[in-house]
Amino acid sequence: MTPAWSVWKFSLASSAGLVVGALAGWLAGGHVASGVAIVAVAEIVLLLTHLRHIAKPMMSLPTASPNKNPDQSRHDRFMMRSRRLAANLHDLRRAAGNLPDAIVLLDQDQHVRWFNHAAESLLGLRRPQDRGVVLKDKLHNSELAGWLQEASPEPLNDVSAPGQPSRHINVTLLPFGQRQRLLLARDISHMSRLEQIRRDFVANVSHELRTPLTVIHGYLELLDPEDVPQLAPVLGEMRTQSKRMGQIVEDLLTLSRLETQDHVSEERVPMAPLLATLRKEAEALSQGRHSITLESIAELDLLGSPKDLHSALSNLVSNAVRYTPTGGRITVRWERTAEGANYSVTDTGYGIPTDHLARLTERFYRVSSSRSRDSGGTGLGLSIVKHVLGLHQARLDIRSTPGQGSTFTCCFGRERLLAPEVHDKPLEGN
Ligand code: ADP
Repeated sequence: MTPAWSVWKFSLASSAGLVVGALAGWLAGGHVASGVAIVAVAEIVLLLTHLRHIAKPMMSLPTASPNKNPDQSRHDRFMMRSRRLAANLHDLRRAAGNLPDAIVLLDQDQHVRWFNHAAESLLGLRRPQDRGVVLKDKLHNSELAGWLQEASPEPLNDVSAPGQPSRHINVTLLPFGQRQRLLLARDISHMSRLEQIRRDFVANVSHELRTPLTVIHGYLELLDPEDVPQLAPVLGEMRTQSKRMGQIVEDLLTLSRLETQDHVSEERVPMAPLLATLRKEAEALSQGRHSITLESIAELDLLGSPKDLHSALSNLVSNAVRYTPTGGRITVRWERTAEGANYSVTDTGYGIPTDHLARLTERFYRVSSSRSRDSGGTGLGLSIVKHVLGLHQARLDIRSTPGQGSTFTCCFGRERLLAPEVHDKPLEGN
């Protein structure tokens, strides 16, 4: 290969690397840091490939002689550019090598082709013996190996780093070049610690508030408004608010418990009686203001936590009642689908503008604070629903049209469904 052709090839490859890296950064979620990191890595990987062909021969070329002819000065300029290029290659290689995120270039069979320093500490890769090893074999028995085995397109979030189990990482696998993959592992230990502090704080505050609130609530219940008629409205309001605070504390404690859980009990949840209970609850809350229909089509039971599933499914019914004006219709459905079964609650209520939909499951997110408060909401209901469904590998789908109504659907996979138990009829005469 002539040096001039090497330079052209390098320039083309380098630009291609830049484009691939930028695209990969964009695919990774548009984070600037990821983009910059990937661009650098894409460059480096291509540069490393060409380094052997370009840099070494260039470095070994003889220095120019002082007796210059036109050919000689062309040679000198070429030499100068070559040295600059080699120096840039060296800097870029050091930059990628020293990035704080672990970066591993894998071929189509997941063999390790290249990795940086952070990959040594976070993933436990060793140089030179781990070049060419299959990554999932090298990291066997770790969550990361299981994830690589599954070839999941979703990123792997908050797992302990195989090379340093006390550290936490997020891992992404990006397509790169022709059938290659770029594995990025970001150290999120600091964020993980802050998140843990936040969780502990919320759980502790809620727990500490529970006792004094119970005492206040108890005394308020003891006071008879008839003894002090002039204070009757104040007393009524104090009771309502202390009940509301109590409900917020209970919901926060439920959320804290759900957040720290990574699995739920695997019990049969008979759907027929649960749906009947949900309907009764809706009727009690509605007090005859709505028409409530139950369409129980699927003869299927669920597998999971009866208490948590009841709380999530009843939350959706209670929201439908609270956000549907008098005279509206509410339909509860349990139906089989191609993927499993759906539980849905449809109302003809106020509806939700589209730009609010994505944020509805955030804690304390409300479309209208006053409407939520007036209807006795804590702002935590849908957050609880989301967590409960996550623990049952189910998802929440929300469709809504302002002024027309909403449908909240819980989509359960087949692995969570059971055929209902057939009970023997009680013997006649017993
Ligand atoms: P809240 O206790 O305030 O009802 P949720 O987490 O259950 O809290 O719901 C969050 C917000 O979503 C509510 O404040 C309300 O604005 C909106 N929302 C929930 N369900 C419905 C519904 N069926 N119709 C209209 N808006 C709803």
